Amino acid sequence: MSCEISVLNCPKTGMQQCFIGNDEDVRKKIDSLEREFDELINTLGYDNYFVNTQVMFDSLNIIHDIAEKGNLFCECGNNDIELLLLSDKIYLRCKRCPANKIIYASSNEHLKNNLQTKQILLMDDGQPLDAKTTKPLAKKRDGK
Ligand SMILES: [Zn+2]
Repeated sequence: MSCEISVLNCPKTGMQQCFIGNDEDVRKKIDSLEREFDELINTLGYDNYFVNTQVMFDSLNIIHDIAEKGNLFCECGNNDIELLLLSDKIYLRCKRCPANKIIYASSNEHLKNNLQTKQILLMDDGQPLDAKTTKPLAKKRDGK
């Protein structure tokens, strides 16, 4: 059970899809997601789910690009990354440690930031976003 991909629907948490698998599987999954995306938008009204469907779609493309170049990984060295689509952001989470990364995707400003992203490193510091846009607010530790 090494190359498994799970697609989950969690209406309670608002998490629509979870893609779990190794790097290559996730890439393929995102690949096919891109193709399905337009259809989904047309048929299932996904544009009502996402705050900004175009930005979400483009950001997903960017992440796909980054993953394809092997620049999506966790600080623990793992590249089993979960990808969760939320209404206004993309949540990347390491499967083997608590590290995570949130890619915001609800405004053109976010898209601009995402376009400048060359690599995504998941880190276990509770930091929601990169230093540029981080406000000095209290960090949230999950767990306790
Ligand atoms: Zn990790």
